[in-house]
Amino acid sequence: MFKVLERIFKDKIATEQIALTGSDRLRGKIEGSCNSDCLNKCAKACPVKAFQVEGNDYKIDYKKCLFCGKCVEAVAENAAGDLHHSSNDVMPMLIEAGVEATADVLKNKLGRSLHVRHLDAGSCNACDFEMGALSNSYYDLHRYGVAFVASPRHADLLMVTGVVSRNLEQALKMSYEAMPEPKLVMACGACAAGGETYGDTYAIVGAADKVVPVDLYVPGCPPRPSAMIVALLAAADMLKEQM
Ligand code: SF4
Ligand code: SF4
Repeated sequence: MFKVLERIFKDKIATEQIALTGSDRLRGKIEGSCNSDCLNKCAKACPVKAFQVEGNDYKIDYKKCLFCGKCVEAVAENAAGDLHHSSNDVMPMLIEAGVEATADVLKNKLGRSLHVRHLDAGSCNACDFEMGALSNSYYDLHRYGVAFVASPRHADLLMVTGVVSRNLEQALKMSYEAMPEPKLVMACGACAAGGETYGDTYAIVGAADKVVPVDLYVPGCPPRPSAMIVALLAAADMLKEQM
């Protein structure tokens, strides 16, 4: 408590400023090189098999990546390269031109609305908290004509958070089947998109695309609200193609 107060007095702000260009404190896209001798150590350090070795190079599966920094730490410990997290989100940033183009789609094709049904298939709730932030006055999702609805029967898009647990598998299937055509599914966060976060246990089915067809993946653990907005606007564009 006293440490927090000390920081507020010292830095004048308790939280970081939000900027669409990223933040120095954000663990974003992984960049830089890693000595090929050390690549296997990075891959071993990764808890979700997102760090993949390809010959003398590496590839990150951002559907699974938790942005935990373990691979970067492994490189630092072995002084074997300059692998680092950049301050950029993996998702493309929201740009005004994109917002305007999507607003046209919403206005002309969707009656100025994209209706979203959220389904928590087994999350830790952090993705859901970030999703909740979409409705606050800073992100103000409603200004784009995007609204959350209580029933899949009223939804254009199913937004799935959390790794699909056996208890929620049927609910996910039934929600998808109840939606009218055309419909889209968004797997939001590393659990729903990659399915590796909690490993392989008796209670877990895995990623959302093991149960229903997924159209959009949003990386992050949890994804930032700005990334969710980009994905929702991209979804409106995709629906246009189907209409
Ligand atoms: S940041 Fe974490 S989850 Fe992502 S590739 Fe590195 S070790 Fe794996
Ligand atoms: S992706 Fe991360 S934040 Fe989201 S539900 Fe899974 S563990 Fe929680």
